[in-house]
Amino acid sequence: MYLHKFRKWAYEGLNLKKQAEDLNISVWQSPGFLFIVMGLIIIAAMWGIYFALKNYDSPNVLVISESSVVVMFLTIGSFVISSIEQVARANKMKTEFVSIASHQLKTPIAEINWQIELLLSKFPGGLSEKQQLLIGQIAHSSQKMARLVDDLLDVARIDQGRLALAKEEVDLCTLVNEAIINQRPFSIVSGVELKSSCPVTSSKILVDKKRIGVVLDNLLSNAIKYTERQGVVEVFMETKESSVQVCIRDNGVGIPRNEQSDIFKKFFRSNNSLKNNADGTGLGLYIAKNIIEQSGGKLWFQSIENIGSEFFFSLPTVKS
Ligand code: ADP
Repeated sequence: MYLHKFRKWAYEGLNLKKQAEDLNISVWQSPGFLFIVMGLIIIAAMWGIYFALKNYDSPNVLVISESSVVVMFLTIGSFVISSIEQVARANKMKTEFVSIASHQLKTPIAEINWQIELLLSKFPGGLSEKQQLLIGQIAHSSQKMARLVDDLLDVARIDQGRLALAKEEVDLCTLVNEAIINQRPFSIVSGVELKSSCPVTSSKILVDKKRIGVVLDNLLSNAIKYTERQGVVEVFMETKESSVQVCIRDNGVGIPRNEQSDIFKKFFRSNNSLKNNADGTGLGLYIAKNIIEQSGGKLWFQSIENIGSEFFFSLPTVKS
């Protein structure tokens, strides 16, 4: 296991082209390249000092050599730091841009949704079946846009470390039941059976109810989305000494083993989602993991391709 981790670390560290592409910089600016150059220079400098001392054995030579090594290190160090700073600045600007753009998009999308609702409720008789169908499709697309904008805003808040949680005491079982009710229509349309069981004991937690609702909606909708018709999605809850654990199990397409380490990365979508043409952005799990961790809990999963997946999260319970 450690050997595998080391190989992965070495592969990622030495894959300079990928690093450069990920950070949108040239290869010679990539941290891995700079690290290698620094290492080579240090080795060369050490050899230089060694030979200088061997041949001249003079304190002056030693002082000069050491000073040059220090100057070299400082120069390279400042170059590395300025490159990293450049990347960090670009990243910050990107997050700010996403945040501003999403805020600006929120109002017009809300207006479109509101006007569609008005159109459908005020003139249902005056619209032909075809017109109602088309307006329904517009409404669906606009709701998708609204969800994407909400997700982008949440991602920007997470990246800027300002995802605020309005914590209150709630029963997790109630939240699970609400999420099941929300997802029931989707499971019926998808032909997937949705089951749940809550423990008899109370599971009071101190969380932001709306955000835990988002986590449950994401995990449940994923389980349904990535399960073929006639499949089953089950939700289990287990109370432990000082925490409560939720498991969302499906017998769907599963996640390929080689992609499992990327699953919580922003915008990552596994091959299975592309093969099954499932709608999505690759942001749901990133947001869910951050919400759970910021609420003092943990989120993890296990999955076998073509067998199914289990997503778990646990949250600390309130002492009564
Ligand atoms: P998406 O909007 O694509 O569903 P998520 O962040 O929620 O984004 O999930 C990231 C990826 O993880 C998905 O694209 C899918 O490939 C995979 N995934 C998530 N949940 C499941 C699941 N229950 N079964 C199989 N694959 C899943």
